[in-house]
Amino acid sequence: MPYNELRKDYLLDRWVVIATERSRRPTDFAKPQQESPKNATCPLCPGNEHMTPPAVMLYLKSNGKIIKDKDADGLRRKNWLVRAIPNLYPAFAPPKDPADQEQIMKSESFGCAVGHHEVLVESPNHDEDPADAELPQLGHLINAYVDRLRELSTKTYVQYVQIFRNHGKEAGASLSHAHSQIIAMPFVPRIISEEMAASKNFWSEHGKCVFCDIIEKESKSSRLILENQHFVVFAPYASVHPMEFWILPKKHDANILNLTQNEMEAFATTLKASLKGLKDLVNDPPYNYGLHLSLNRDSSEYYHWHLEVYPQLSIWAGFEKSTGMYINTVTPETAAAELRKAIPA
Ligand SMILES: [Zn+2]
Ligand SMILES: [Zn+2]
Ligand SMILES: [Zn+2]
Repeated sequence: MPYNELRKDYLLDRWVVIATERSRRPTDFAKPQQESPKNATCPLCPGNEHMTPPAVMLYLKSNGKIIKDKDADGLRRKNWLVRAIPNLYPAFAPPKDPADQEQIMKSESFGCAVGHHEVLVESPNHDEDPADAELPQLGHLINAYVDRLRELSTKTYVQYVQIFRNHGKEAGASLSHAHSQIIAMPFVPRIISEEMAASKNFWSEHGKCVFCDIIEKESKSSRLILENQHFVVFAPYASVHPMEFWILPKKHDANILNLTQNEMEAFATTLKASLKGLKDLVNDPPYNYGLHLSLNRDSSEYYHWHLEVYPQLSIWAGFEKSTGMYINTVTPETAAAELRKAIPA
């Protein structure tokens, strides 16, 4: 009997068993749409702003222009387009006094979870997920990612800012209103720092960015899903999740702070097209996505920002939890072929 394939990630020391022999079709994962209970009042919907902490940033439409503002003096602004609010149950909380800032890591294995944890309400419309969002609205969301990153990354105690999105209850979304989350933390988390170390090695060995190299190779491979002027979308060679895909900007940059208006719009278009393809193909599956970027100036040559999308279609069980290895029952090549078909050209 032929073997399944063992594949290693481009950068991480992470192996996956790609089940080529008993490969499943993406549509096998489609579950009937769950009727989301139109139950209790949604704290993120317009009109319920008083149910949340004051917004640290919001976009408002004023005289046909978009302006940036925040809630102040106990008032909650209305008619917002995007709203960033502190999480009610933050994983990381701001330092109470400046002295705290120096004492974040108390020892090598103990520290204080100092930072920020925000909820970014993506739209006043409850169901306006990126797959179905109006492009200008999705553009506001990307703009808000950049604005929040710019503000949070300047704080002395912040080493990394993770921007991510959970879609669907099984993927950890406790509120059904379209929202992203932002966590600013006092150190660079493991996966990012491993990617950074590996890309630094590649740079010193080959004198070029490993991600630019990946883009060049994958845009000619059977794993390519979508390519436009500014972005490439592909199923990574060693995908851990069925239907996983990554979005990489063609222009080399370590983070999103220097995106032009044009590039932000292109990112919105690319994100929407890919997520709409996934939604149509697998009947709106739960998923998570996360931005990987670097705030470290030294890494600007060798690190290259990207977005990783992880559909939640399989359960990590005994083997995955005990080994850190994964079994993926949809080959990235099949995932890419099906997503290409699902995304209108
Ligand atoms: Zn809502
Ligand atoms: Zn690059
Ligand atoms: Zn990454």
